[in-house]
Amino acid sequence: TAITVGVGKAAKQGVLIKDAETLERLKDVNTLLVDKTGTLTVGKPKVTDAFWSEEITEEVKGAFLFAEKQSEHPIAKNIVSYLAEQGILASLSENIKTIPGKGISFDYNDKAFFAGKLDDEPLEDSFRHAFKTLQNKEATIVVLKAGDKTLGLLGLKDKVKNEAKKAVNNLLEAGIDVFMLTGDNEHTAKQVSDELHLSGYFSNLLPQDKAQIVEEFIAKGKTIAMAGDGINDAPALAKAHVGIAMSTGTDIAIESAEVTLLHGDISKISDAIRLSKQTVKTINQNLFWAFFYNVMAIPVAAGILYPINGFLLNPMIAGGAMAFSSVTVVLNSLRLRLKKA
Ligand code: ADP
Ligand code: MG
Repeated sequence: TAITVGVGKAAKQGVLIKDAETLERLKDVNTLLVDKTGTLTVGKPKVTDAFWSEEITEEVKGAFLFAEKQSEHPIAKNIVSYLAEQGILASLSENIKTIPGKGISFDYNDKAFFAGKLDDEPLEDSFRHAFKTLQNKEATIVVLKAGDKTLGLLGLKDKVKNEAKKAVNNLLEAGIDVFMLTGDNEHTAKQVSDELHLSGYFSNLLPQDKAQIVEEFIAKGKTIAMAGDGINDAPALAKAHVGIAMSTGTDIAIESAEVTLLHGDISKISDAIRLSKQTVKTINQNLFWAFFYNVMAIPVAAGILYPINGFLLNPMIAGGAMAFSSVTVVLNSLRLRLKKA
């Protein structure tokens, strides 16, 4: 009964919990690992700066636009609207492929292109300055390349969710460490981490790295909740003791997680943990009272007082008392509904 009440109460608050076990396990969480884009940030990065090489044509930009249109990534959506605003028309690119955690590749006019994260290869001199500018702005940087040649650099800025700061504060106050896991670059990661006063962060991660970090924390004996929204978070969500998906995220993230937060409201995570503690406390109270009551009452019903004062319990009253013990347990569970959380 306590669990049913707990799951129902959580649902009312916008926390959808898949099973009873998860509600019980949430109380033990001492470390939250959290994705950046779409979980701590709004997930609608806007292009703020664009630097193009002199030789890029409108058609190539059009092919870039067309390729990004096929991508589900939040970055892609904004690049598409940015290019469209610039009056670029789509041109048919082919063989479009997503490279998880990195970006996309596509072919246009028999040439291979890549758009996504910068790798470790040095940039051409002509883009050094642009790169520094974007880095200083702590922007997420997307590079467009034809083979090894850089054709453009785009800088995107995302906003931290309004509720993120409070959410992180509540968790830290409750003694829960909060680490961010992101595929984004070091600079952007550090800025978000500093802004929210996180316990720490890991940047430049591939999806399998996120899952591996979850495993490492588990190996250290931590009880881990992982919160994320993307395809790249799904393996980590599945590995964590409790996976928490954003309802605003991808289906695969929601599938892989045991908890879904409506409206992607991460301030609900600490509420859910508190509710889990209350629920388990109620279960323990119920067990205590049920046992205590029976241990006292059964000997009385069996006539233990008879030699002392001649007291015998009427079987009808004993039957009623037995039922009453169940009623107290149910009432105590329903009390959970009235608790503020
Ligand atoms: P996060 O952990 O922040 O959700 P991802 O692992 O999804 O990030 O992506 C990591 C990086 O890969 C992004 O910051 C971006 O630079 C690049 N990237 C991913 N998909 C695309 C895309 N469709 N177009 C351009 N860049 C992309
Ligand atoms: Mg994300």
